[in-house]
Amino acid sequence: MEWVETSRFERFGMLQVSRVAASIQPSATLAAAARAKQLQASGVRIRDFSLGEPDFPTPEHICEAARQAMVAGKTRYTQASGTPELRAAVASHYRATYGLAVTPDQVLISNGAKHSLHNALSASLNPGDEVIIPTPYWVSYSDLVAMTGAVPVLVPTTMEDGFRLNPQALRAAITPRTKLLLLNAPSNPTGAVYSRAQLEALAKVVLKADLSVISDEIYEQLMFDGREPVCFATLHPDLPARTLTVSGVSKTYAMTGWRIGWTVGPASLIKAMGNVQSQQTSNPCSISQAAAVAAITGDQQCVEMMRNTFQQRRDLVCRLLNAIPGITCPIPDGAFYAFFNITGLFGKTVAGKLITNSVSFCDGALETAHVCLVPGSAFGAEGFARLSFATSPEEIEAGVAQLAEWLRQG
Ligand code: PMP
Ligand code: GLU
Repeated sequence: MEWVETSRFERFGMLQVSRVAASIQPSATLAAAARAKQLQASGVRIRDFSLGEPDFPTPEHICEAARQAMVAGKTRYTQASGTPELRAAVASHYRATYGLAVTPDQVLISNGAKHSLHNALSASLNPGDEVIIPTPYWVSYSDLVAMTGAVPVLVPTTMEDGFRLNPQALRAAITPRTKLLLLNAPSNPTGAVYSRAQLEALAKVVLKADLSVISDEIYEQLMFDGREPVCFATLHPDLPARTLTVSGVSKTYAMTGWRIGWTVGPASLIKAMGNVQSQQTSNPCSISQAAAVAAITGDQQCVEMMRNTFQQRRDLVCRLLNAIPGITCPIPDGAFYAFFNITGLFGKTVAGKLITNSVSFCDGALETAHVCLVPGSAFGAEGFARLSFATSPEEIEAGVAQLAEWLRQG
């Protein structure tokens, strides 16, 4: 049968790719990691700093809870919105850590925080709504928003301002169609955190303009130099009714593969999200949920240990990167990413290749230095590259040395 191309969408047999699916890019972080793995499989030793994933094993007491759950037969469907135990554990976490009054019916457990974000956005947006996203932003935000038919409105922040959104810039971006502010602190990719006063100033603008907020707090426990996490919803009595807080166990407890995230918010919206989830995916994995209860309610020393280790690695990587001419690496206050400025290298030819932007820099780094990074353009911030330091100091030292050696060839 001969195809006559009648649309710009690719055809597979009788099926056409939908407009939404055709407009979605693969996650740049996952794509970079896949490329590193592919090269690795072909025999090239790659120093891979692409993925934001703790290199620690999941702590033993959490794995043990999963084993016990299997032995106890917790291998069946659970309630679609999550087990009562896990919803209660998450609610207690917010009461104990932030003094936020949360009941289990205000908690929805999903298949990782990415799924929580998808659910939160689909349940609260209509086509044409505008969502304010400060840049640099985590790679998936704009596509997740676009999938709902809403419009991402990107508001730049600068390295000089610590990559923090300021209230004036927020106010200036608001239009009659603005529905939501999507906030992420500590930030992926910049590690930026806000003081309580800075968040209160943003909250004031939010309340005045009658906006809702999705606050992605997945790195809540990964703050350095003794900083205390702030939960955005606690900043004003009117915020809990208009805020969806997203978090999960992936980063805090080195549980990326277990796929447990959650959303906390007004019970009516959480119920609507639960309805969507019950049609879409049913419950998250029963065994992972049992493990997540152990993570949240168990000994938190493992979190402290990982946080301290990440802080040491942060200091190491920033020192090494800042010693390379042409690179400026601000010190991140949280999360586990170095987001460094490479504009000092633009126009330079390294090993026969001209560096003109973050993609050509990262391509050269991968192909010649065998170091895998993610280009700033994937985070809406040209002129930067992201290095995940959730890896060993040996790997960091070797990888940054390879980067420096490559750049010396210019
Ligand atoms: N939000 C941010 C800012 C992230 O960096 C990630 C990393 N994956 C997620 C959400 C999603 O987390 P999860 O692995 O639990 O889906
Ligand atoms: N959030 C991590 C990152 O930014 C994991 C990859 C992903 O989910 O995109 O690298």
